[in-house]
Amino acid sequence: MAIIGTKLLQLHERIARACAAAQRPVQSVTLLAVSKTFDALAVRCALAAGEHRFGENYVQEGVDKIATLTDERGQLEWHLIGPLQSNKTRVVAEQFDWVHSVDRLKIAQRLSEQRPAHLAPLQVCLQVNISGEASKNGLPPDEVAAVAHAVAALPRLVLRGLMAVPEPAATTQAQRAPHRALRELLQSLRAQGLALDTLSIGMSADLEAAIAEGATIVRVGSAIFGTRPGLSAAAAGS
Ligand SMILES: *Cc1c(COP(=O)(O)O)cnc(C)c1O
Repeated sequence: MAIIGTKLLQLHERIARACAAAQRPVQSVTLLAVSKTFDALAVRCALAAGEHRFGENYVQEGVDKIATLTDERGQLEWHLIGPLQSNKTRVVAEQFDWVHSVDRLKIAQRLSEQRPAHLAPLQVCLQVNISGEASKNGLPPDEVAAVAHAVAALPRLVLRGLMAVPEPAATTQAQRAPHRALRELLQSLRAQGLALDTLSIGMSADLEAAIAEGATIVRVGSAIFGTRPGLSAAAAGS
């Protein structure tokens, strides 16, 4: 597991190089370590190496890991980055700190109603289907503004920004186009008066392109924890 520490050092160097190339301060990009399919021990190793923010895709897997790591709860920030069905919102509102994958007003309303009063408001992003594939999750870009204004008004949520999982592309130039479109959408929401500070884009395969276009949170899994079980190297983006 010492390899996780080494991979994290290399990844932080990679992020620093991308920030330098984009003339951005390295502190302007936050790493979210995507621990989906990896066990609680892997999270402990990354925590020991200085990471505090972890991303999970599957609600039940995340809830189980949060429970296993209760002893470290105060040190950990848990982000849900995968699809969320309305019958799973309560446990997410009770257990997670962030949700990046809000793609309907109804989900946001339920999360706000179900967020316990003793916890800080849930931090959320709207997921946008920026590449326009029929199969992908996320709001169509032309519906984002209306949903954003409604979500921003909910009492127990803080709308932080936008998230996307663009279609894989081979070159940095091709990777940048959807990231740029998401940044421009965020800028247009800000121009409408919404106080948003988060652009959640960039994974193991495209974080340079995302940082060049203004990513503030990069969500990285395989470059830290290795190829996910059951996935080919290509499918894991490594
Ligand atoms: C798995 C996943 C990631 C991390 O992907 P890697 O290619 O392993 O870095 C980021 N975001 C989402 C939504 C994911 O599902």
